[in-house]
Amino acid sequence: MKINNKTVLAILGLISIATIVIALIVFDTRSETENILREYTCPLQEDFVITSPFGYRWGEFHAGIDLSGIELYGSNVYAIAKGVVVRTVVDDDVWGNYVIVRHENNLYSLYAHLSDIIVRERQNINLSEIIGNVGNSGSVVPRPTTESPMRGTHLHFGLFRDGYSQNENAINPVLKMSCFN
Ligand SMILES: [Zn+2]
Repeated sequence: MKINNKTVLAILGLISIATIVIALIVFDTRSETENILREYTCPLQEDFVITSPFGYRWGEFHAGIDLSGIELYGSNVYAIAKGVVVRTVVDDDVWGNYVIVRHENNLYSLYAHLSDIIVRERQNINLSEIIGNVGNSGSVVPRPTTESPMRGTHLHFGLFRDGYSQNENAINPVLKMSCFN
């Protein structure tokens, strides 16, 4: 094939079309994800305040938000959407008792420092199904003492995409879920 100006133009044209198609596909998946996230509900039904935001604090990355409130200890923690329980861990040094749920579009939610876990791994759960209770297990500040066994009570809530590695996959829930605005 002789390469002339027409051939070059045709190739450039095809490349442009391919770029536009890819951009549209990426944009479409993104907006679909955004819509799904907006439909997610609150993990707590009691009043709470965000006592520690998403991002760097004390030189470490906080891949979630801390929800605290008077008398939250023992209150229900709800699944923010339907999904499958992929992890239930008891007595982790950092997260204490925690649950990770996988949702549509490879999105994940994490609920940590629970007092009790009610669900089991591989269990299918519905939107707003109770997965456990708020607690202060694991590493919480301030630490509970014998005199104040409920000190440090809060729900650490995390949101992730394409996996649940704390640093690589974390999403700021405050920016994506209407529950926190
Ligand atoms: Zn936290």
